[in-house]
Amino acid sequence: MATIPVKKALEAILDHVQRMGTEKMDLLHSLGRVLAEPVVSVRDHPPWNSSAMDGYAVRHGELSQASEQRPVLLEVIEEIAAGVLPQKTVLPGQASRIMTGAPVPEGADAVIRVEDTRAEGKRVRILEAVESGENVRLRGEDLRAGNVVLAQNSVIGPAEVGLLASVGRSYVQVYQRPRVAILATGNELADLGEAISLDKIMNSNGYAVAAQVIEAGGVPVLLGVAKDTREELSNRLTPGLSADLILISGGVSVGEYDFVKEVLGELGVTMAFWKVAMKPGEPLAFGMLKAKPVFGLPGNPVSTMVTFEQFVRPVLRKMQGHTLLFRPVIEAILMERVTKNPGKTHFLRAVVRKTEDRYEVWTTGSQSSGVLTSMVKANGLLIFPSEAGEMEKGRTVQVQLLGKDISDPSVPGH
Ligand code: AMP
Ligand code: MG
Repeated sequence: MATIPVKKALEAILDHVQRMGTEKMDLLHSLGRVLAEPVVSVRDHPPWNSSAMDGYAVRHGELSQASEQRPVLLEVIEEIAAGVLPQKTVLPGQASRIMTGAPVPEGADAVIRVEDTRAEGKRVRILEAVESGENVRLRGEDLRAGNVVLAQNSVIGPAEVGLLASVGRSYVQVYQRPRVAILATGNELADLGEAISLDKIMNSNGYAVAAQVIEAGGVPVLLGVAKDTREELSNRLTPGLSADLILISGGVSVGEYDFVKEVLGELGVTMAFWKVAMKPGEPLAFGMLKAKPVFGLPGNPVSTMVTFEQFVRPVLRKMQGHTLLFRPVIEAILMERVTKNPGKTHFLRAVVRKTEDRYEVWTTGSQSSGVLTSMVKANGLLIFPSEAGEMEKGRTVQVQLLGKDISDPSVPGH
């Protein structure tokens, strides 16, 4: 079995992955999805020059000398509320009362704030000068008709939802979510709801990985637990073959009962089987069943989650049309000395916190790949490069953030 670096494995895997098909989705349910079409504005927004203030629409030229001492008196010819079109043109010596968001009438080229005026029956005293265009939002300032307002492959967040609504889109075309079949393997496993005996441990991987799938935008399909026999692996896997991606945890090492690779081969999966130079992790099976990616992840609970993070999450994101596939990596100051055997990339469970001017990082303590509690504590994975043997306290290190909140004692609320 070949040993390859993390980057090589990732490249080889991503090379095989295709995008999902697309589906029509109503606007609010498109939140978090990726646009599969460019979205074009059908009109200008705002559709007319509109007022940014409550005040009076005026001709700025005749107000250049206006002040508290020398107010300019104008005739008020109409009132324009938001939602109605002006009926009259503002001529010299005239103004129109106007509300925020209402269209600026013909003839006017500025809006003076109501605070800078004094109403007198059908007339208004203007107490300040205004500049041309002041308090006027120009037609098309936000969006122009015919322009692409959201590119294909944009991730739809709340601002995008607002923009889509502002161009009148009740539905958008997005990439489908991949359905991910998840099978846990091991004679020692009991599943939730089953009686647990002394010789058993609970299947935690099935659920941790299902949660990771959901977080990555996929839809988990739980296949339960298979005993380490060829027949049971094959039987349990069969209903998952219609999913878009298959994940198996455990049984990929070189133990007596590690049949996963063999069974996948029999089911028609073209397999690559590697030792990836990483810890936790190491044995990783990857293959394709036609266009469907298949992963055999190592069974240790932390190894399963960390290999999912490094390899499966980017794949699920690529399938959903994301262009940013990876977690953000930040630089942080290492707050303790760490030593590791060189030759492998170590992903150390770590806690990052932010201070006024930097990030600081500690490991969570025990890095045994069975200790899931330290995964709970971690908000990042400290990337310990394969060539390093030790890293001194105080040096700058790279930390992959896991999408959890980061405490910052220097701001209120902590
Ligand atoms: P394996 O990769 O099958 O050799 O499993 C490695 C270790 O992970 C063993 O100690 C297993 O008991 C444990 N393990 C495997 N699968 C699971 C699972 N689904 N949930 C919890 N622990 C597991
Ligand atoms: Mg096993």
